Amino acid sequence: MDKFNNLIGGEWIEGGTFVPNINPSNTNETIGEYAQAEPEQVTAAIGAAAAVFPRWSRDGIQARADALDAIGSEILARKEELGRLLAREEGKALSESIGEATRAGHIFKYFSGETVRQVGDRLASVRPGVEIDITREPLGVIGIITPWNFPIAIPAWKIAPALAFGNCVVFKPANLVPGCAWALAEIIHRHLPSGVFNLVMGTGSIVGSSLLEDRRINGVSFTGSVSTGSLIAAACSQRGAKFQLEMGGKNPLVILNDADLETAVNCAINGAYFSTGQRCTASSRLIVEAGIHDEFIEALITRINSLRVDDPLKPETDIGPVVDQSQLDQDLDYVRIGREEGAELLCGGEMIERDNPGFYLSPALFAQTHNDMRINREEIFGPVASVIKTSGFDEALSIANDTEFGLSAGICTKSLRAASLFKRDIQAGMVMVNLPTAGVDYHVPFGGMKGSSFGSREQGSYANEFYTTVKTAYCLPQ
Ligand code: NAD
Repeated sequence: MDKFNNLIGGEWIEGGTFVPNINPSNTNETIGEYAQAEPEQVTAAIGAAAAVFPRWSRDGIQARADALDAIGSEILARKEELGRLLAREEGKALSESIGEATRAGHIFKYFSGETVRQVGDRLASVRPGVEIDITREPLGVIGIITPWNFPIAIPAWKIAPALAFGNCVVFKPANLVPGCAWALAEIIHRHLPSGVFNLVMGTGSIVGSSLLEDRRINGVSFTGSVSTGSLIAAACSQRGAKFQLEMGGKNPLVILNDADLETAVNCAINGAYFSTGQRCTASSRLIVEAGIHDEFIEALITRINSLRVDDPLKPETDIGPVVDQSQLDQDLDYVRIGREEGAELLCGGEMIERDNPGFYLSPALFAQTHNDMRINREEIFGPVASVIKTSGFDEALSIANDTEFGLSAGICTKSLRAASLFKRDIQAGMVMVNLPTAGVDYHVPFGGMKGSSFGSREQGSYANEFYTTVKTAYCLPQ
């Protein structure tokens, strides 16, 4: 069995223990054994990053731009191999997995350009003869903590801007997906000076906590659940470290009477079920106007029944397995809860047997639901969606906004007026018109409102808000 170590100060170092990484499409297959970093090793990784930071941040923007460009090129050249690893490790269908690796390559290329697109201001002072420069400077050492559901893209959209703006990185991936993290680290580190980028694998309670406790971590960029996000906020606030949180969603897709039926069904299928529904931007609440309600449900069930749930490496597979036993248990629990709450289960919600033992679940659709049910309030994070019938646009908007989350939202309509009002009044960081709630571009801001996010936006040129700090310099030339 192959063993994979942590990357600390440019060296591959064994951890205290190793954990096997199981393929969710075939639980008989172990992908590899991954080192679990000890707290002292996390400390050493942070020390290595802090030591090299002064040099890395001053080496010049051309060196940084070239490094990010080379990393992006290598990821793109190896996207099939990385996509296959992702499909085996996390269970995403192969085409989506290769798409995710491709996106990561594009992100590094984009931030290579951002490195040299410097921003700053020179202003006149109110005091004669004094000059003022406003510059953006790197924060220092950034702790990056990521979830399992986009194991290549999310690390890429944090690591690339952190490095582009002159920071050093200590990366702690989710323990369910160390394979993708290790493969990404193996590419990144070869293009950088030792210590600029470090990988520490392991659990949140040991590796994550050690990272949060260290005062040399100047900023933490986190994506994951609301409960972990709260812990990170508390730890960072206590010692004054900057932090940015991307958390859960309970995203609405509104379908009005005038929607194109095929577009609406495509948006629902993609948004609710692709990636096995394991996306923070998944549309798990389908808010459907009465006039199109029955027709929409009928067409949606036909499409759901045609989806192939199987091993993600098979070309005909639309949806892979759920990521692990505990997520499968959670999904099945919510199917039971929905039925107990009085919702009508129209299809799916059952475990499926395939050639190999895996966590396969048939896509589930509930109808006759209302927005107060737990299945419409809590993030399920699986292939489970529910339909909420509504009388018209105003009620649909109010239901869509009646949630503690505000990440992504969508509407299907041919009315420009309805689309404009929805874009204006929906409480979400990202709004889609006649498009699925999931699936976003890499060069524009990503993030949510309300309980979904905290801090400045990720991605695109807006990423510099988090990864830099502003300095105002006054000078009286003599
Ligand atoms: P999680 O919160 O369990 O774990 C996320 C990361 O935090 C992991 O690396 C984990 O090891 C680490 N962690 C856990 N406890 C910690 C602690 N005490 N200290 C430091 N680190 C700790 O989330 P998950 O199950 O991996 O991912 C699923 C969640 O992520 C869902 O809620 C989903 O909505 C969310 N998500 C959000 C976005 C977004 O951009 N808004 C994107 C993807 C996923």
